[in-house]
Amino acid sequence: MKPIIIIGSGLAGYGVARELRKLDKLMPLLIVTRDHGDAYYKPALSAALSQDKSPEDLITANVNKAAQDFNATILYQTTVRNIDTALKLVVTDKGSFEYQSLVLALGAEVIRLKLEGDGADDVISVNDLWDYKRFREALLGAERIAILGSGLIGCEFASDLIGKGFKADVIGMTEQPLMPLIPAAAGEVLNKRFSEKGVSWHLERKVTSVMRSTSTSEKALNVILDNGDVINADIVLSAVGLRARTTLAAEAGITVNRGIVVDDYLRTSAENVYALGDCIEINGQTLPYVLPIMHASRVIAKTLAGQPTPVVFPPMPVTIKTQGYPILVLPAPMGVAGEWKLLEDDNGLKMGFVDQENKLLGFVLTEGQITQQAAMVAQLGHSLE
Ligand code: FAD
Repeated sequence: MKPIIIIGSGLAGYGVARELRKLDKLMPLLIVTRDHGDAYYKPALSAALSQDKSPEDLITANVNKAAQDFNATILYQTTVRNIDTALKLVVTDKGSFEYQSLVLALGAEVIRLKLEGDGADDVISVNDLWDYKRFREALLGAERIAILGSGLIGCEFASDLIGKGFKADVIGMTEQPLMPLIPAAAGEVLNKRFSEKGVSWHLERKVTSVMRSTSTSEKALNVILDNGDVINADIVLSAVGLRARTTLAAEAGITVNRGIVVDDYLRTSAENVYALGDCIEINGQTLPYVLPIMHASRVIAKTLAGQPTPVVFPPMPVTIKTQGYPILVLPAPMGVAGEWKLLEDDNGLKMGFVDQENKLLGFVLTEGQITQQAAMVAQLGHSLE
């Protein structure tokens, strides 16, 4: 019997394997991953430092344990070169494998800014455990870290770094951090709180180049901004965003847009090929978060086990790991016109994103207002008074 093949060993790939094994213990399963295949919880990467956790502490099961747990063959450090959907064949750098069903759990890759300067290649980014190991090694002896990007990942790394006594310079193009995920009013409070703890913000600014320092009295790199300001830092960490990995699917003739396009059953345009996680686009949205992956894993597993099941995503708020200023956000749907309204500003902020008919479509809650989560979820889709 040909196996089910899963490409990817992140939360999405291993999520499907785990859920499938709850339903079917024996179906042959082959997991192909280009990384080392150890299981870890990716959101922990931007909170581990201040919790004194090493990269190794974040591994929940090494690749051998994962293979045992999932009763699967795991081909790690193995790159899929192409997929032949007519022959139902996955071609890797270690051989070709036929599948009965294929699951694409390819994740997303970091966007790299095109920067000038001899230090541009020294800019690092963290999108998996192995990047993170290199980042932690680079931090030894460092004091000041410049972070390119003031979105979720940039702010979480800034939070973690200042929590451990480092200085962070955060450069972002928006008026306030975390925009447009959260409104300016909430970003402004985060801005103030983090400024008090050692973050220097450089907002509404672009980085033009990164130069290696020529002076031994300076830190290794100089980040040059579009207004001529220079930030001298030991490390430059880029966190400007992720782009769904679509090339493999596109080259196989599978429909892609901003992500690999899937329907409500997580089916791609190719027969018996499913996709989930950071690599997909569903109903015009990318959902690069953990909760959608958990829901999608369950329904793909059911479908693979013979009970085709559509995915129904409930409202899935995201906790932003900004220490000292906790934020919970239900992002507004992409591409929908609307505005943020302040609903309460006592004991934290409560803000709602409403469409042109004043219907609540998203929200942000900070600090003490986070207890209002259930009430806000209940109000979704209804008009605000
Ligand atoms: P990945 O984990 O990227 O896995 C992709 C897999 O595909 C990898 O195993 C890779 O080796 C494999 N692969 C890719 N191409 C090939 C190929 N050609 N051949 C073989 N294998 C291949 N989300 C939240 O909900 N809450 C949070 O607090 C949160 N914090 C985060 C903090 C950080 C620092 C980051 C980076 C993300 C965070 N996220 C958070 C997002 C969340 O972690 C991701 O949505 C999730 O981990 C994505 O899982 P994935 O399996 O889709 O992708």
